[in-house]
Amino acid sequence: MEKRPSLEVNGRRYRWPREPLVVVCVDGSEGAYVDQAVRAGVAPWFARTLKQGAAFVAECVVPSFTNPNNLSIVTGAPPALHGICGNYFYDRESGAEVMMNDPKYLRAGTLLAAFAAAGASVAVITAKDKLRALLGHGLAGECFSAEKANEAQLALAGMARPSVYSAELSQFVFAAGAALFESRRPDLMYLSTTDYVQHKAAPGAPAANAFYAMMDRYLARLEAAGAAIALTADHGMNDKHGPDGSPNVIYLQDVLDGWLGKGAARVILPITDPYVVHHGALGSFATAYLPAGADAAALAARIAALPGIELALERAEACRRFELPEDRMGDLVLISRRDTVIGTSVSRHDLSGLDAPLRSHGGVSEQKVPLIFNRRIQGLAPGRRLRNFDVFDLALNHAE
Ligand code: ZN
Ligand code: ZN
Repeated sequence: MEKRPSLEVNGRRYRWPREPLVVVCVDGSEGAYVDQAVRAGVAPWFARTLKQGAAFVAECVVPSFTNPNNLSIVTGAPPALHGICGNYFYDRESGAEVMMNDPKYLRAGTLLAAFAAAGASVAVITAKDKLRALLGHGLAGECFSAEKANEAQLALAGMARPSVYSAELSQFVFAAGAALFESRRPDLMYLSTTDYVQHKAAPGAPAANAFYAMMDRYLARLEAAGAAIALTADHGMNDKHGPDGSPNVIYLQDVLDGWLGKGAARVILPITDPYVVHHGALGSFATAYLPAGADAAALAARIAALPGIELALERAEACRRFELPEDRMGDLVLISRRDTVIGTSVSRHDLSGLDAPLRSHGGVSEQKVPLIFNRRIQGLAPGRRLRNFDVFDLALNHAE
């Protein structure tokens, strides 16, 4: 590959790739999924890579949701800088609750666009289309989703169009990615899957092991074609139900309606997106907008005392702690414990599509994610706190 100078993106410097690099964000990849697949003997690439490459436990962005973390990974920065702090938010300017998947909400350029502008060949493949516009913003390169793939892209993957609720939606990402890599060897490739399988199947379950075995075969193919591979996750995943299989939910809008009067406060669940079948829009993170004159500190203390709540913080403290944009968060930030989710009102959640006991994410309990490289990593400062959005830094600046 051509020798070019390093690039500075969002205040961090990255060396030009010395060999083609494939960064994979495995949606909802709680660390135990890989460990269990390796133990079951179905993931030989992972088994070898964990020994011969490098593996770390890193922390994702909280809220531990898909869009904030994917955007952090491709910008190398927290949401305070890039602005994407959920799938969904309350836009104070327009006074409306809206999806945050329009690039107009993105406040920073991506590494992918910067390298492409400097002459690198870059390709991005996602599972769901909701991420495509954000990840591909300003990018002069290939960028497509499994969900909206055209005929040529389906032919490249050698697959029929997968359902948006299927393991095949993620398989498409790998199949198309491997074929594209073998034919065109882009300098940088970013692959991002969906957590359909992880929402339904715990680590070690047959469907989970089959999914990681599938992934293992494509990663081996990419490696055989000469790719340096760096793999992380947008967030982990935990059971959010009781022993009888019913979800543990705090319906926070109903709670606040009871305390303050109906509709006085507004609870926003940033997990909300058009694809709610597998989680019913229930995650472990919420933000609440309070009526004028409300005592935020007192309400935070009162919510913190509810069983199942892990943290109830006022906006400024939450945004400092989790590096979030203050203008896009409510007056309170609420995070539930590992086994509990936060909803709005009972009447607003359709749980009829949940055909397995609820597993979800969003909280601090899903913050630990793997960082796995098929190259050795050197020169990290001792005691450094590793984030999933350090993946390009490690792969480009610290790989042997
Ligand atoms: Zn996700
Ligand atoms: Zn999810």
